[in-house]
Amino acid sequence: MQGFIIDIKKSRDDDLIVLILGETHLYSTYRFYGARHSTINIAYKIDFELESNYKSTIPRLKDVLHISFPWIFDTEKLYLWQRFVKLFCVHLKDVEELDPFYMNLLNSLISIMVKQNPKRAIIQAYIQLLEFEGRLHSDYMCLLCEVEINTEVSLVRSFLPVHAKCTYAKKFSFYKIKELFEEKSLISFTDEEIDYLFDILLQGL
Ligand SMILES: [Zn+2]
Repeated sequence: MQGFIIDIKKSRDDDLIVLILGETHLYSTYRFYGARHSTINIAYKIDFELESNYKSTIPRLKDVLHISFPWIFDTEKLYLWQRFVKLFCVHLKDVEELDPFYMNLLNSLISIMVKQNPKRAIIQAYIQLLEFEGRLHSDYMCLLCEVEINTEVSLVRSFLPVHAKCTYAKKFSFYKIKELFEEKSLISFTDEEIDYLFDILLQGL
């Protein structure tokens, strides 16, 4: 099987509890001496086997192979990727069965990040996730006053739109947010605006 490591917790000694986002399941697994293995790292893609044991409720993680990314040695890309992938742990808390959407999203993001700016690529992937989960608010109703927005707009956590005048957050021209939500395009956003959007994303998926 293949999957992405979205969380690692220390158990006793060098043993680890490793949470893996697979194609159709989220797996909580136990890895003996995991802390000694460089293949176990946050946001790494791995090929693995699970072994169930009657003594334990949690399967044993074995035969782990690291599947590398073309940009694995680009420290900035890897750092941003790890910060994004880590967020899935809280986002998918208590979920066991998964739609293949999540694994497909991460797989395609790996290829997109070969050429594209990592923050832009990750924000675009996040917009797809919001749309898939029915949380992309392209009705442009202000979360705070519940009146439609049509000029300056601000975004809060989960990219929820609010009137710029209803909050003290950064203002965006309405057309830019429309382009982002409807055409999934970030072309009109400056690098400084991208940094700002990325920081909102880091607050949680
Ligand atoms: Zn408002």
